[in-house]
Amino acid sequence: MPPPSTVDFDAVLGILRLSHKYDVNYLHKRALMHLETVYSVDHTIYATLYIQAQPHHKQLLSFHLKAIPILAEVDAIWLLPSAYYAVGTHALPSLLAAGPYWDRLPAGMRETCLPLAGIQHQALITVYRFLSDRSTCDDDEPCNIVRLDTISGTIMRRATVAQDPLAEWNTEEWTWMLDVLCPACVRRCRDDHAVAFMQVWNALPRNCGMENWDVLLAKRKAVME
Ligand SMILES: [Zn+2]
Repeated sequence: MPPPSTVDFDAVLGILRLSHKYDVNYLHKRALMHLETVYSVDHTIYATLYIQAQPHHKQLLSFHLKAIPILAEVDAIWLLPSAYYAVGTHALPSLLAAGPYWDRLPAGMRETCLPLAGIQHQALITVYRFLSDRSTCDDDEPCNIVRLDTISGTIMRRATVAQDPLAEWNTEEWTWMLDVLCPACVRRCRDDHAVAFMQVWNALPRNCGMENWDVLLAKRKAVME
């Protein structure tokens, strides 16, 4: 069944390999379509996918470590930036504790994975610039106090959890902002956040040593259409 039907994603990886090996095109495409619900290729639906799709596999490091070499083997390179990003949301000790999943990963892929947690932690600073920049609205003092309090609390909270810059600032948090900042500041925060989100998104291929999204999506088009 095509998405959004419920599937066993470990089985999907198996089908992806076999359909590639035996050149069964429709099964291959269908497996890729399912994997695109886990590893987004479209920044406009990233946040939605992140919240709705297969939370089990979003969080399961062992699945990502299993998927990456298979995606490379079948040349589904457009799925790799999000797959590597998913690995980067896990702290370094978790990678080393992933046992056989980590040990079986080819050395080059392990080397790609190791810096990701740090890169993505750094990207949180890029994303949160919408809070750390000063307000320039007509009544800036109360807005600046809210920004300062919020960024302080956010840093305290985020310092101990996974580095997941693309998932930062959810719908409830934006709604809350409407009550505590002036409309001009909320608008600027949203604009600044959107710019930073795209910076982080556009950097995903580079972070894992791949060509840019345009090249990867051209490859996708050739396979999927
Ligand atoms: Zn303001």
